[in-house]
Amino acid sequence: MILEYGEVEKHNTSESCYVILFGEIFDLTEFMKYHHKGGYAPLSCGGKDATGIFLSTHPLSVKKILKTKEFRRKYYIGKVSQYKPLFNYYDKFYIECKRAVEKYFDEHRDVLPRNRPQRYMEVFLISIVWIIAAMSMNKHRDPLRASIFGMMNIMVGFRIMHDLQHGALTNSRKIKTMFDILSSVGTVMSIPGWSKSHNYEHHTSPMLDDDPDCKINMARYHKNKTHKWYNTFQSIYTIPGYGLSSIMFELKELMQWTTLNKYPVGYRDGLMLSKLVRIGILKKIGCYDNMKNILSFYIPASLYYTLAICPSHMHIDNLDKEKNASYAKHQVSHSFNYNSTSRIVNYLTAGLNAQIEHHLFPSIDCRHLPLLRSIIKPICDKHGVAYNDQGYVQCMKGHLKYVRELGRIRDKSGVVK
Ligand SMILES: [Zn+2]
Repeated sequence: MILEYGEVEKHNTSESCYVILFGEIFDLTEFMKYHHKGGYAPLSCGGKDATGIFLSTHPLSVKKILKTKEFRRKYYIGKVSQYKPLFNYYDKFYIECKRAVEKYFDEHRDVLPRNRPQRYMEVFLISIVWIIAAMSMNKHRDPLRASIFGMMNIMVGFRIMHDLQHGALTNSRKIKTMFDILSSVGTVMSIPGWSKSHNYEHHTSPMLDDDPDCKINMARYHKNKTHKWYNTFQSIYTIPGYGLSSIMFELKELMQWTTLNKYPVGYRDGLMLSKLVRIGILKKIGCYDNMKNILSFYIPASLYYTLAICPSHMHIDNLDKEKNASYAKHQVSHSFNYNSTSRIVNYLTAGLNAQIEHHLFPSIDCRHLPLLRSIIKPICDKHGVAYNDQGYVQCMKGHLKYVRELGRIRDKSGVVK
């Protein structure tokens, strides 16, 4: 059967979930409900071309499964009419990177790429600290406790939600569902919003046009985006704007609960309830008592979050970079590592300081990303792929220059008017 892309796009719910892999259409509705280790993760790319995210989150061998008679008999639907892939997904460079990393984990059986008991213990400990911070906030109801509690909310987002949604924390369906509910209570981000804008859109094509994952609404973050009069001043308001971003996040994410209908009823109700519990707790313990508490709860947390992620892609050296035909090379060339060998920075940012390795291997526990650097960098050097690795200050300067430069009016050829 040959289907138009628009027809495939309609199948994006748990009742009917199609995905496009290498130009072929698969109906993953039943597979996702009962067998897929990442649970409902395919819904983040339901009705879309999921080739990049599929390849990056699975071992190389999984491509063969798509060709087996058994799999095709159950799930194969047909082909997409006039399929034009966004990238060359399966090139020598990526295969070499994947093989080298898989070989490493094969040879070091004691180093688990995910399902690490230490991370499960960490989820437990972070939850305890989160509860203590909430109790302290409830007792004192002051701006200091509000800001500490706000930071703990971001820690839940970084250390639990991010790896969890990428399948880097666990591939047990039961544990994932439990942690989904837990992290929905614990952080400002929501699973539907996160898995759509981060897992799928950002990881599929970082910095192509207006990346939905890295932005505040009033800033111009890509030269293809129309320049508005206020963008001239964006180098002044962008950083303060970052400070308010998680307030916007909380409001936006709350509104996105109306889109939850694409999930199965039980799971949807669990997520919805956890968000209502979250807002109830924030109100009860005093985060919304007065404007000082509201701002103290959201601003330091927002800055922590945005200043950790924004310099990694929105960097002056990316300003005029075009799309690379190779998916993997595009991921590397449009990502910037900072302090990528530092264990402390790695912990505090949950591996977001090693964006190159994270984008190539999003389903590997963030703890291992600095280690993967020693495998990936030589392969990049061998293939002549620029490997962007800087100190944080330099990387941040690159980000500020990027924001300033896009505040200047440019014509389509990139010339400043
Ligand atoms: Zn990610």
